[in-house]
Amino acid sequence: MSRTIAITGAASGIGAALAKRLTSEGHRVIGVDVQKSDIEADLSTAAGRKAAIAAVKEACGGVLDGLVPCAGLSGLPNRAGSILVSLNYFGTIELLEGLRECLARAEAPAAVAISSNSTTTTPAGMVSEEIVATLLAGDEQKARAMADETGSLAAYPTTKTAVARWVRRHAPTPEWVGQGITLNAIAPGKTATAMVAEGRADPIIGPHLDKFPIPLGRDGKPEELAALLAFLLGPEARFFVGSFIVCDGGTDALTRPDDWPAPPRPKA
Ligand code: NAD
Repeated sequence: MSRTIAITGAASGIGAALAKRLTSEGHRVIGVDVQKSDIEADLSTAAGRKAAIAAVKEACGGVLDGLVPCAGLSGLPNRAGSILVSLNYFGTIELLEGLRECLARAEAPAAVAISSNSTTTTPAGMVSEEIVATLLAGDEQKARAMADETGSLAAYPTTKTAVARWVRRHAPTPEWVGQGITLNAIAPGKTATAMVAEGRADPIIGPHLDKFPIPLGRDGKPEELAALLAFLLGPEARFFVGSFIVCDGGTDALTRPDDWPAPPRPKA
């Protein structure tokens, strides 16, 4: 059965690989990106997000089978943290919230957000719990100012942690699974896309990028992440709700084998 799936960041990398795969399987993809896409919008601005939501609603006729908000930027020494707050977090969460009503009208709808294994593998202290809380409270301006203080290298795992927590908090609620929408997050490890090429070209972090251990011995391929996303969007994944799925060639397991699974933390 042909389904209609909206993908942000569809012009490159993981989003493009997913769009190619779904299209080849006979599905209809509505691509959203700042460049070269069906709907062109800057998701790092409130106006761009609003326009993108309206355009997707119109394109899908109010019924959407799947949504993958994939657009994102990495941390770089000369990139402000604030843009990651607006794009990686609000560009994901506002699209999920804004298109939820269209998903709810579909048969077996699914949404998958893109977190990152940087959430669990970067050194302790990189992820600011204060900024995570500010993001989850929806205060974009305050979070932008805080992230500009920390810089984008720290803002990256911080925004991706907040995305994962938002998914975990919302997936099991009446608004999401109660409407039949499965919501999950994937956490890719280093994957060979334009994002990583950009990091490799950076004179400061470039030389360190490939020192990050990947037990499998290579970077991920965008097609491998697309395969996981396609599965999570499909009919055989209906029992996945609020899952945080690491797909990283073994880096997370190598870095912290005994941290998880773990029983719930005592409530403060
Ligand atoms: P990519 O750079 O190939 O693709 C990112 C896409 O986002 C591009 O098409 C770009 O045009 C779009 N984009 C950038 N700014 C935008 C804006 N303001 N508005 C709308 N679109 C915008 O990168 P990728 O690796 O495919 O990344 C996809 C997702 O996967 C991102 O959320 C990223 O954080 C995440 N991720 C990537 C890796 C990795 O190693 N590549 C690892 C973990 C998570």
